[in-house]
Amino acid sequence: MAFQVTVDLKKCNGCEECLEVCTAGMLRMQGGRAAPVEDRECLGCELCVGVCDENAITMTATGVSLSPTCLSLLGGLDEEEAETASRRRDGL
Ligand code: SF4
Ligand code: SF4
Repeated sequence: MAFQVTVDLKKCNGCEECLEVCTAGMLRMQGGRAAPVEDRECLGCELCVGVCDENAITMTATGVSLSPTCLSLLGGLDEEEAETASRRRDGL
């Protein structure tokens, strides 16, 4: 699962509380406001959301991020499951 964090700059007062709780180092100060760091990975813990008294932070799950290899393996599993179901139906 991947997560995306956004900060509402109109609400952020620059208290830096979110920076202190984020163990992933996802947030930094930019122009006196908190901002997500692009190349870091959000863990989806929502500690920053909970600590922000201004309700300036939104964390959303952006869905499962799978590599092409994982997707091809999952495709193989689907075929295997279909084959197993077919065998069961035929009493084999
Ligand atoms: S906790 Fe909220 S108000 Fe404080 S810096 Fe972070 S986003 Fe801004
Ligand atoms: S949800 Fe957790 S990992 Fe993500 S930015 Fe907030 S504190 Fe950091």
